[in-house]
Amino acid sequence: MSVRETISVGGQWRAAAAGGTRAILDPADAWTLAVVAEGDAEDTDAAVAAARRAFDEGPWPRTATAERAAVLRRIADLLQRDREEIAEWESRDTGKTLEEGRVDVDDVTSAFRYFADLVMNESGGRVVDAGDPEVHSIVVHESVGVCAMITPWNYPLLQASWKVAPALAAGDTFVIKPSELTPMSTVHLVKLAHEAGVPAGVANIVTGAGATVGARLSEHPDVDLVSFTGGLVSGTKVAQAAAASVKKVALELGGKNPNVVFADACATEEGFDTAVDQALNAAFIHSGQVCSAGARLIVEEPVRERFVAELARRAGRIRLGRGTEDGVECGPLVSQQQLEKTEAYVASARAEGAVVRAGGARPEPSEVRPESGYFYSPTVLDDCHRGMKVVREETFGPIVTVEGFTTEDEAVSLANDTEYGLAGAVFSGDTARARRVAARLRHGTIWINDFHPYLPQAEWGGFGKSGVGRELGPSGLDEYRETKHVYENLRPSPVRWFAG
Ligand code: NAD
Repeated sequence: MSVRETISVGGQWRAAAAGGTRAILDPADAWTLAVVAEGDAEDTDAAVAAARRAFDEGPWPRTATAERAAVLRRIADLLQRDREEIAEWESRDTGKTLEEGRVDVDDVTSAFRYFADLVMNESGGRVVDAGDPEVHSIVVHESVGVCAMITPWNYPLLQASWKVAPALAAGDTFVIKPSELTPMSTVHLVKLAHEAGVPAGVANIVTGAGATVGARLSEHPDVDLVSFTGGLVSGTKVAQAAAASVKKVALELGGKNPNVVFADACATEEGFDTAVDQALNAAFIHSGQVCSAGARLIVEEPVRERFVAELARRAGRIRLGRGTEDGVECGPLVSQQQLEKTEAYVASARAEGAVVRAGGARPEPSEVRPESGYFYSPTVLDDCHRGMKVVREETFGPIVTVEGFTTEDEAVSLANDTEYGLAGAVFSGDTARARRVAARLRHGTIWINDFHPYLPQAEWGGFGKSGVGRELGPSGLDEYRETKHVYENLRPSPVRWFAG
């Protein structure tokens, strides 16, 4: 299998300078999908130098907003042109279903269009009343500079786009490092940026490992902002490395997201069915490898037994298989490591007293094809409590834990008892209660009677250890800009502070 040229520096595609390569595995059968360039610090330095030059000397930061917005819209059109190809790569790389891959392409197309519209609708600065008619004072936003972007493997195209689109809209240049497990859709995205007319050196990519490429990007003195999406452990290292040069840091980290279900949400058969269906989707879409997965079901005691029985029944019917195959509802986990991590969490839960109501093991070879894939059965763990490791830590696998509650205060206390704070949901048939509880939940996104939707125009990000900063929405653009106050004295005169 020939090595793909997956490093792009200054508009030129090439292999790694030192000749390193990495095999990208298909998680459905552990076979090699592609062999890509494995960059290192030398490749990273070259890419940062290209991005620095393009920012300091190139046209992009000074290009008219309308022209930049037009480039973003062209990228959106090209994403739609290549929708099937990108969706298939995303599915084969990550294991997610082809349909999820298509949804991702459509979502990021909207994000590119949103940021194009956002910059076009801006007024060009906020005039401030200085209290003096002889002073003109205005606050403006400018490009932040060279951005380093480091992204995870679960939503490679989506996480890349939530950074690339606002950065391009803001007039920045960037070097992106996708996850070493799933680089293909990000490589494609950078190609589309070039095709859409982004000048050479603005959009650079280095494929490679976190410990080499990612670490170098985080510490690099010529990088102005590092925007990271990934786990808490790596995110902490990125922040520490970035601190040495006091660069700006944006972190989108993990979550342990509560899904609170009140009995009144299940008062009718339709309500019960909706709440169970949403809980299933919350926990098991993309095999639970979602930062906002509803991995912690907190359900009111009177409906608990019936709810868990139905959830377990439906979890047991989820059709596992290769994500590109028709009829498959859940793909494999992304890697052997992720599979083993899931097994370890279920073992620890059992040891701490959890009761397995569904799953709890790899599927039998007769239940899933191909046998060699990293599959794990959707797992429902009942009788959990907040002290358990499986309840406290982000498992990032197809596991949902169940805790019961009897009062509203107890539900809120459980849902907020996490070091994270990314997202959470409340299901209730009582609107006043649902809104009251939503207001008390300490998480960056709260869904009422729903789970998982997000909007490009609404901020995404976490409280607590789920991160620093926000993506999407106006704040998602501001992450990629500096703020400048220009104070203009229209009638200059001496200050005479000093007498001499
Ligand atoms: P990870 O932290 O292992 O890796 C993320 C990225 O960081 C990869 O590109 C990796 O190569 C790189 N990296 C690893 N060590 C590094 C280091 N020392 N310096 C710089 N870069 C380094 O995460 P993952 O396993 O790829 O992704 C799963 C995690 O991502 C989960 O915790 C999930 O919750 C989180 N996530 C968060 C969001 C969000 O929006 N908050 C979205 C998606 C995923």
